[in-house]
Parts: sequence; C-alpha cells; structure tokens
Amino acid sequence: MTQSFYPPERTLMGPGPSDVSPRVLAAMARPTIGHLDPEFVRMMDEIKELLQYALKTKNALTLPVSAPGSAGMEACFVNLVEPGDKVIVCQNGVFGGRMAENVSRFGGEVILVEDEWGTAVSLDKVEAAFAQHDNVKALAFVHAETSTGVRSDAAELCALAHKNDALAIMDAVTSLGGIDVDLDGWGVDAVYSGTQKCLSCPPGISPVSFSERAVETVQKRESAVPSWFLDKKLVMGYWGEGAKRAYHHTAPVNSLYALHEALVILKDEGLENAWQRHQKNHEGLKAGLEAMGLEFLVDEANRLPQLNTVRIPEGVDDAKVRSTLLKNYSLEIGAGLGALAGKVWRIGLMGHASNLRNVLLCVNALENVLIAEGVDLERGAAAAAATKVLA
Ligand SMILES: *Cc1c(COP(=O)(O)O)cnc(C)c1O
Repeated sequence: MTQSFYPPERTLMGPGPSDVSPRVLAAMARPTIGHLDPEFVRMMDEIKELLQYALKTKNALTLPVSAPGSAGMEACFVNLVEPGDKVIVCQNGVFGGRMAENVSRFGGEVILVEDEWGTAVSLDKVEAAFAQHDNVKALAFVHAETSTGVRSDAAELCALAHKNDALAIMDAVTSLGGIDVDLDGWGVDAVYSGTQKCLSCPPGISPVSFSERAVETVQKRESAVPSWFLDKKLVMGYWGEGAKRAYHHTAPVNSLYALHEALVILKDEGLENAWQRHQKNHEGLKAGLEAMGLEFLVDEANRLPQLNTVRIPEGVDDAKVRSTLLKNYSLEIGAGLGALAGKVWRIGLMGHASNLRNVLLCVNALENVLIAEGVDLERGAAAAAATKVLA
C-alpha cells in the first residue's frame, strides 16, 4: 500500500525554495477556514499592509497572486501589454528571457537589451535603446538575477524609464527580503515577487504591486485582458479596498496563513536588519569559499548576498559534488542554469536559511567533498576563514 509521504530533512542552500521557518510551517497547519470568512478577510487586509511595508510602497493595488512567481510575472505583462506595444526587455540571465517571452506572447514588440550573463544590466545600452525607439510603453528588468547572482541598478533603471515616459516593470522575486526593494522611492510601476526565496515561505504565491500609473494604464486598455484569472480588475473585486469581497477564485487559505506569518517575522526583525543579516552571512560564506580557492562569477559591486555564484574548479565533477552534498550532508546547493550549466554552483543564503550555522555547514561540507575529489585543500581552513568574519 502507498504510505504517507515524509520528506527528508534538508538544508536548502540553492536558488529557492529556501528553508521555511518552523513558525511558518506551523501557521500553515492551522485549520482551514472559508476564504470569505470575516476573520480571513481581516487577515487578507493585514497581508496587504505587510506587503506594502516589505515593498516600501503605498500602492493600493498590492496583493498576493495565488500562484508562483512566474504567474506574478505573467500578471504584470498580461495586464500592461497590449498588441503592438513596444517594451524594452533587459536580458542578463534566464528570467529576462522569460519576460521577453511574455511580452511577445501578449502581442507586444520586444526590444531586447542583452548583457553577458554574470554582469548587471548596462544603463548605457538601455539609454541607447530608448534613443533608438520612440513610444516605448515599458522597460522591464530583473532586479536580482537568480540564474547568475547579479544585482542591477533598479533606481537608475526606473529613472531612465520615467525620463522616457515609460512604465518600469521589475522582477523582485529574489530581491524581496534580502536586499533593499524601494518601490515608491524608485518609482517602480509594476513589480512581482515570490514567497520561496528570501521570504522563506513555501512556494506557490506571488506578491504583486501596481502603481497608480500602472492601474490607469490597465483602465485605459482598448482590448480585454486576455487572461481571466490574472485580470487585475476582476481580482480587485476580491482583494480591493472596500471591495465587496466577491468570489473570484478560492484563495489558497493555508498558503496565505504562511505568507502572513513570514511577513510578520520579517517585520519583527525589521527590513534593514534582515538586509544586514544577509550581507554579513554572505561575507562569511565568501571568506570560506575563497579560502577554498573558489572564484565568484560576479564583480564584487554587483553581487547578491543571498545568491552566491562560484565557478566550479577545473576537473571537478559538478553533479557528483552536488549529489554527495545531498546524500552525506542533506545539503542542497544549486546547479548552473542555461549557458552556465556545469560551470558554476549557486549557493543561496536566503531568508531563514541565511545564518551562521548554514554558512559553516556549507563550507565544511564542500571542503570535505572537494578534498575527496582530489582537490588539494587544508582541512578546516574554510570554516576558520568564515568564522573569522562571523564570530
Ligand atoms: C524563482 C524566480 C522566478 C520564478 O518564480 P517561480 O515561483 O519559480 O515561478 C522568477 N524570477 C526570478 C528572478 C526568480 O528567481
């Protein structure tokens, strides 16, 4: 007979999902109530306020889409792009490519600005693209590229968009909770994020926020939004301010308990403290990795503290190292994606998983496995280097 499923206990230090706090797991196991229950509606209002805090925005249209980050991405493009619209899409990794795919599927014209994987989006190239094309409706970029570990300059990109009278659409899936995300300060018009990266919540929900300008753009559409489920005007009948809370779809009740708890944890810690913790643990991990001779893919200035991408040393078997880490240490790290497959490891220190214990586990385990693979390393040196920074 098929039995209940009990997952193994892992330490998740890949590109997401990250380790979920026991507080969030406990919240998720609380009794399911109706999605129109007044108590549930009260919790929904709190989620909106907590998301406004986390995203640093007063946007009224701030809500969790009931589906993963990719659906949040789609929600932004399906509402804002109409057939024939020109959209500049910055691609410096996997996720920029997905944005371009969204724009073209909704009939938009993609103006692709490409940068090498591992580098930040070039402001000069974006400026040149605006100079070459008039009537650009929006500029879309990924704030924290999880495929490479790069941070792009969101404030400057938004400024370029506004200078050219275009909307700024930002992917903040990996940035939210790990580094500063300042919607109102930067003037982001549409943003989507995810729960399973630095919010340390199970996957499956995507926080989304639209500025007033973005809402007006949706209201002025000539064509109907081609997705019923993601049509913001319809969703707001359930989530909106003073809305009648009419049935739109059945909200994922327990997943929203989890998001609420994760956001309460973030607010208790404080945004700035959370960013500092991510930065500090990154510095410890970096010291340990560099003590093993591992090199970062990304320039120091553009590195994400929550996603550390290092080159795999010559002659080392990528898949074998990762499977030994999983088997012997129950530790998950990420493989390279796309053009970087087999060339890099992506080591996440996201949300709840960004702590001293995980840094030490990772550098010790990786050192042991590399020594077993024949790399000439002094045993214990990596943890000593990390400890020096973090103790
Ligand atoms: C993970 C991720 C996504 C996609 O999120 P899913 O929840 O996997 O759909 C999009 N953009 C970035 C930058 C990501 O890291």
